[in-house]
Amino acid sequence: MNIQHCGFSTKAVRAGEIPDFREGSAGDIVVPIHLASTFARKEVDVLTGGYEYTRSLNPTRKALEDKLAAIENAAYGLVFSSGSAAELNVLLALLKTGDHILGFDDLYGGTKRLFTDILPDYGITFSFVDATRPQLVEQAIRPDTKLVWLETPTNPLLKVCDIRAVAAITRRRGIILVVDNTFLSPYFQHPLELGADVVLHSSTKYLGGHSDVLGGAVATNNAQYYERIQFYQNSAGAVLSPFDSYLTLRGIKTLALRMEQHQKNALTVARFLEQHPQVQRVLYPGLESHPQHELSKTQASGFGGVLSFELKSTVAEAKAFLERLKVFSIAESLGGVESLIELPSVMTHASMTEEERHKTGITDTLIRVSVGIENIEDLIADLKQALG
Ligand SMILES: *Cc1c(COP(=O)(O)O)cnc(C)c1O
Repeated sequence: MNIQHCGFSTKAVRAGEIPDFREGSAGDIVVPIHLASTFARKEVDVLTGGYEYTRSLNPTRKALEDKLAAIENAAYGLVFSSGSAAELNVLLALLKTGDHILGFDDLYGGTKRLFTDILPDYGITFSFVDATRPQLVEQAIRPDTKLVWLETPTNPLLKVCDIRAVAAITRRRGIILVVDNTFLSPYFQHPLELGADVVLHSSTKYLGGHSDVLGGAVATNNAQYYERIQFYQNSAGAVLSPFDSYLTLRGIKTLALRMEQHQKNALTVARFLEQHPQVQRVLYPGLESHPQHELSKTQASGFGGVLSFELKSTVAEAKAFLERLKVFSIAESLGGVESLIELPSVMTHASMTEEERHKTGITDTLIRVSVGIENIEDLIADLKQALG
């Protein structure tokens, strides 16, 4: 049986963790947590099982890298100590002084910070564009543009861009297309199949899924990019630890079940909010009112579990609403089984200037929700009581 030809959940559960029946093995049904930092050899110039030193390769991390590649339908997978570490590794591995990055104007704040506050010191420049319109991406490409960075849907505005259309533009020019697939996860979206060269995740979110482990992941079909990124992973050393690899492996096994429930709950919450008199607008790609609802259906098999909405209120009233909630927790991050709610203007996106925030559409009362997998009746009742 070739696991690559199996269905999503078969791969999520089994890939990378085929029991070992060799002499002396116990046939563990889950990969053991290999804590060893180094691996002994019987002969000086022969590695045991291909392992040398854990920064270079570790059996538990390898199981996760193989599982990740399998669920992204990719040839190669690599995991890092955080999503941000994965991003910096990809950027440093694939770019050099003089290169220009073109990014979606509504990227994760930490990603923007790498572009605006770190890479310029190394002579790598950037600009941002509204990638919901592929023709604007085409116009913004410069002779020195080496890489286009998309996130779709975006955070916190849930903007969706046409991955196929942007890939057609980058392919023609030999520009690398990176897609941050954190929000939909490989259960709902496969950017590599839509033309992306590299797909990236903060596995802290849906892949881990339980708000108990940080991590980052990269998948690609390009052997040259893989070798370069893998070389940086080993050289810079921001690898995922064996224990964190184990937690992430464990999380991925239930990804399909969780994503279905996140989405079901998110759609119900979005519909409830959309008809509530105190709500100004709701942003969720699963709603017919979302400007890229139809596009979403052509490139993803689902809409995910994150939504944003705006209250007809002052900032003080929006804060009071959040503080009245009992089931939802006020917290940054997303993608865990718990429902989390936050105010981007004062929490996740506080590092942006007010002018920047307003220009991109992040108003002071915009609220972002990561809808968890709790009973939907309890989530709706909690929102009702807090809205008053
Ligand atoms: C959280 C997040 C990141 C950064 O990942 P960390 O694991 O927090 O370093 C990158 N992109 C997106 C879309 C995220 O939500």
